Amino acid sequence: MLIVALFFILSNGLLSPAVLAAGSKTPYQCYLSTKVNGADNAFMKYYSLSLNNPYLADEQTVDLQRRIDDGASDNEQALYWLARYNIEQAEGRTEIDIAFFIEQLDLIAKRSGEAWIHAEIMFLDALALMEQREYALAQVKLESVKLSAEQMGYKILLARSLKWLANIEVERSNYHEALDKYQQAYEIFSARSDDQQLARLLSNISSVYINMEQWDIASQYSQRAFERYGKSALNNAYIAAILHINAGVIDKFLGNEAQRKFHVDKAVKLSAKTRSIRIKTIALVNLSAYYLDRGDEPAAMNAAERCLSMARRFGGKNGITVANCHESLSEAFYSSQRTEQALYYAKMALSVYEANHFQHRMIYLYELMAKIYESVGDYQQALAYYKKYSDLGKSYLFDIRRKELFDMQERYDTHVKEKEIQLLKAENALTNSRLAEKKASENMLKLGTALIIILLYWLYRRYSMLNKDKQVLERSNAQLVTQSNKDPLTMLHNRRFLEHWLKEPPVADYCHGGLVVVIDIDHFKQFNDHYGHNVGDEVLVEMAKRLKSVVRHQDVVVRWGGEEFIMVVACRESESERLLQRIQQQITGTEFMLSCGDYPVTVSMGGIFTPSAKQLSQDWVSLLIEADRALYQVKASGRNGNRLSTSFSSS
Ligand code: GH3
Ligand code: MG
Ligand code: MG
Repeated sequence: MLIVALFFILSNGLLSPAVLAAGSKTPYQCYLSTKVNGADNAFMKYYSLSLNNPYLADEQTVDLQRRIDDGASDNEQALYWLARYNIEQAEGRTEIDIAFFIEQLDLIAKRSGEAWIHAEIMFLDALALMEQREYALAQVKLESVKLSAEQMGYKILLARSLKWLANIEVERSNYHEALDKYQQAYEIFSARSDDQQLARLLSNISSVYINMEQWDIASQYSQRAFERYGKSALNNAYIAAILHINAGVIDKFLGNEAQRKFHVDKAVKLSAKTRSIRIKTIALVNLSAYYLDRGDEPAAMNAAERCLSMARRFGGKNGITVANCHESLSEAFYSSQRTEQALYYAKMALSVYEANHFQHRMIYLYELMAKIYESVGDYQQALAYYKKYSDLGKSYLFDIRRKELFDMQERYDTHVKEKEIQLLKAENALTNSRLAEKKASENMLKLGTALIIILLYWLYRRYSMLNKDKQVLERSNAQLVTQSNKDPLTMLHNRRFLEHWLKEPPVADYCHGGLVVVIDIDHFKQFNDHYGHNVGDEVLVEMAKRLKSVVRHQDVVVRWGGEEFIMVVACRESESERLLQRIQQQITGTEFMLSCGDYPVTVSMGGIFTPSAKQLSQDWVSLLIEADRALYQVKASGRNGNRLSTSFSSS
């Protein structure tokens, strides 16, 4: 990987191996030395120490303050305030902010007219803007500083402005340009053996490779930064914090978890000593990420919240510092499956990154948004964000790595394709489960329908059974009716039937009128007494048969009661007498064949003619009375005979 890294650097015309070797032995801070008569000047030393070991330098602050009061030159005074700024930046001992130092330096610059002090003031202005992440304005200032540093031959300031211009390029994801500027700065710092600057620079180069996700190269630069830092006995919290931040990020991707924890903690501790909100919040963002990777969501959330409260108070106007913390919060919420909040914070962060064209963070946020949407099953949104992630990822990579890095694009493609496939699979699964659900509900419907059909069938069965029962009932009712209308012994209709029938006799059958006949067996009591009741019954049965045989089906033969019968026979009036004779003949013509022998049976009959069914229906009681009267006349005149009544007249 080292060879590949060198090849990559050489092929891009960036840092050459010679330059990357140990720095030369040229005098340190030579431009400034000329301003204060040599590097041995107390203020020069104080200034140098403020960069290398601000903590130690601060011990001399009181002494140097006294020297100023005793009368120091303008340049010495400028160095004093620059040193105080360096100490403050790295150690953050007082509440004095950058504006105060600029004010002090401004007074001296105006008094002395020294161009280098003006340039240093402008440089501090630029750094203040960088802290606020106002990169465009900072760039303008830095370009101006760079120009005047070149004109003055103030090489270190030139290198410092180059370095910060490169930092801006990194923030904008212009890595090629960043490396180009770092290289120029490196050459200058290296020529002056400026270890603290070289350490910072190496660390910055490592962060470029971090952003490019080239972890092995990043790791090498990070290690070299630490070596440079250690070798020159530096003790600068600000620089060290940056080194540990970068090392922690690299360890994450190299999978060195134990080392990562060490670096992350160290970064948080060291950054807390500095006055840089940018460094402090980045350290907390990384701490949050560390806990998240460990699955400790509450700790991650806590770090992100600390980050946010700090960023909100001091984070600058453009919201990038706050956005960093929002990003961490979003991740913590996403990991805790609180997707609503995760989405909220991700959107907040994304809008800031988009407004500031922070492509690297945008790519990351697009992926995060996609993951969040995916987790809530909104595959359409998830796909849309993966598409953005993929598209921006490609153009971004093309920009920073040119054609050599097509393989990286391939990796992105595959990754995104895999994600897309995963998504499609998930979507399919979702569709399938929806279909299954639909099918299940359809089956339920089918089942329901089947149940309803079964129920209906059952009801139908029950109904038809009831119907059958009803029919049976009706039949038995009919039987009962029949039974109630019939005489069980002779099977002739009974009195009940006749009374019913007479209410509505068949009009057509009696269009010519009809004969009403009352028949009574003679001396039946004696017969019964003589032969027994059973033989009497036999007589009754035989009597019924004979009476029936005389008439047609539409005529009526009724057992009125006991040994009395009534007949209603359709006939003309002229036929009445003959009909009575025929009935008489039918009974008396032959002997009754009974179980105890053959015996002659005689009857007495009274008849009366009625001309219409209407009269029959209306006057049947009177008709019967008249017929009965005729019958008694027969009885009275000796029995075994018949008589037709003529006394009835229609009422
Ligand atoms: P008459 O010639 O005046 O009509 O005399 P009778 O004996 O026939 O008349 P009566 O009214 O005095 O007697 C009727 C008898 O008919 C009395 C009764 O025992 C008999 N009888 C009535 N119903 C039945 C029956 O269902 N079976 C039998 N075996 N006898 C019956
Ligand atoms: Mg009688
Ligand atoms: Mg009788």
